[in-house]
Amino acid sequence: MQEPELLDNPLVVIENQLEKSTLEKVNDPFLKTAGVNLWMKRDDRLHPIISGNKWRKLKYIVEHALSVQACTLISMGGQYSNHLHALAFVGKQLGLPTKAWIRGEPPVKFNSTLKDLVDWGMELEFISRSEYRELRKIKGHDGLPEKYGVGYWLSEGGANPLALRGVAELVLEINEPCDYFCLPCGTGTTLAGIASTGTGRFSVLGFVVFKGGAYLEHEISALLPHQITPESWQLNLDYHFGGFAKTSPQLLAFVDTFMATTGIMIEPTYTGKMLYGIYDLVKQKHFKKGQNIIALHTGGLQSIRAQI
Ligand SMILES: *Cc1c(COP(=O)(O)O)cnc(C)c1O
Repeated sequence: MQEPELLDNPLVVIENQLEKSTLEKVNDPFLKTAGVNLWMKRDDRLHPIISGNKWRKLKYIVEHALSVQACTLISMGGQYSNHLHALAFVGKQLGLPTKAWIRGEPPVKFNSTLKDLVDWGMELEFISRSEYRELRKIKGHDGLPEKYGVGYWLSEGGANPLALRGVAELVLEINEPCDYFCLPCGTGTTLAGIASTGTGRFSVLGFVVFKGGAYLEHEISALLPHQITPESWQLNLDYHFGGFAKTSPQLLAFVDTFMATTGIMIEPTYTGKMLYGIYDLVKQKHFKKGQNIIALHTGGLQSIRAQI
């Protein structure tokens, strides 16, 4: 029997589709020799479509949107955006209209991500990079100027204090010892959610996946509750590989070797860059022998589907 109050909650439609996010030891002779224990928190397993950290971030935002009777969910993102992909699917599941402002010229041929957005009923509008930068500044859910549409606004990547609560729940699922909690950072919202738990159990180490990400320090601090000390988390800016979604032969070779050695599928935009960074830090003896590192698999595998 389900709890009666759960049945009243429309989000249960999605909650019922969720799979367990497990914690798995990464078996790699390289790590064994180095004496470091690496675990992966498999949030990529949470849902077949709403990738990795995206449902964690959306859950309480969408709950809030429903509570204020939002008519449409409006957001922004790039042409391969995992955030928009998740949002469009959630909107379709809940029967809530969705709309997105997408960076750049409309492509002649839509990629698989954009096709899914259209199939799930999301209204797409393309805007110039300079306009996109302006939109980025709008944070509040009711702050969207009318020319961009009327509805509940979700800023880029769902960066919103409500997102932290959903992310924090993943920390509660972990009982194993942990010295470092590592994750890739786009907007840094997921990092803020992890750090917001303030358990004191581990240091949070975020790998920024684009160039010039030092400003994230400020954005993350602004999302965090005041009692969270800056010493409990830090950003590593060294593994951006030239910019967002940029790669190098070394990175791609690393991703291939990692998948072949461990059997864990990853993509090079987020989780691949983080793991490259972790392995490099292991080589530099940044971690002590016997330490436990948990790396968050944030999913995002939809973005690397063959483009047909
Ligand atoms: C969105 C995303 C991130 C970044 O999350 P932020 O909260 O914006 O830092 C990391 N990994 C994947 C796969 C993502 O889709």
